[in-house]
Parts: sequence; structure tokens; C-alpha cells
Amino acid sequence: LYSQTEVQVKNRESRLAGLVEKLRQDGHRITPQRLAILKLFAEDESHPSVEHVYQRVRLDYPTTSLATVYKTVLLLKEKGEILELGFAGASSRYDLKRPGPHPHLICVECHRIVDLDIGTFDDLPQSLAREYGYQIVNHRVDFYGVCPECQTRASK
Ligand SMILES: [Zn+2]
Ligand SMILES: [Zn+2]
Repeated sequence: LYSQTEVQVKNRESRLAGLVEKLRQDGHRITPQRLAILKLFAEDESHPSVEHVYQRVRLDYPTTSLATVYKTVLLLKEKGEILELGFAGASSRYDLKRPGPHPHLICVECHRIVDLDIGTFDDLPQSLAREYGYQIVNHRVDFYGVCPECQTRASK
């Protein structure tokens, strides 16, 4: 039996390996820099911004430009391999682990974003399609609140 963390690590690794394979098959060159960028997005649970990944990739590849990170994200978006969460007046945040639409919990204090695993949402698009006659092509569900860490900080 694998622990929850081991399963998560395995999932991340196979997601990254599958993605690299797919990009190579489509004729994209995977430079060490680009691989590092993909790895950071795949391993980061925090729904990082482009700037956040840029700061981290520069620790290992100091010559990386912000444009390189943007271009990689653009490519992933074109291929439907990354979910972009746009926010008015703030940087977009990204989820490479789960590129399909899924609900999120967002802290209004520290802007942490976590995936919300509630199975009931999976059937909602289909039942809405039935009820309203719409072809549902996308959805976005965000819950805003104050995370436990920020609540603790505020009460001190
Ligand atoms: Zn918070
Ligand atoms: Zn997510």
C-alpha cells in the first residue's frame, strides 16, 4: 500500500512524464530549462503564477527569461494541458496537475488556492445541460474565505 503522499508523488511524476512525451511527439523541443519549468508547475500544489515559477526556475537556470516561462504556459494552454485561473488586478494562477475545470478554495488574505474535492460537482455540468438546454463548454467555481493559517495569525 502506498501512502497518500507516495501516490501524489507518483501521480505528479507520471503526469510530467506523459506531458513531456506528448510535447516531444508534437515536435516541441524540451530544453533543460523548459523541463525545469514544466517540473515546477507539475510539482507545485499552490497553483503558482508565471512570476512565481520564474523566480524559482532562475535559481537553477539564471539565464531563463520571464518570456520563456510565458511561452511555455502559452503552449500548455493551447494544448489544453494547463488550467488558467485569471483574477482581475492580479496575476493568473495555474494548475498543471488538473487541466480540466474544477472547484477551488481561495484565501482572501494570503491568496493560497487549493483544489476542492467534492464529487458532487462532477455531474453538475451535465445536469445543467439537461435542465437548461445549454451545451456547457466550461465552468469556474471559486469559494473565497480565510484559510486556517490566516485565521490563526489573525487571532494572535
Ligand atoms: Zn490564507
Ligand atoms: Zn486546481
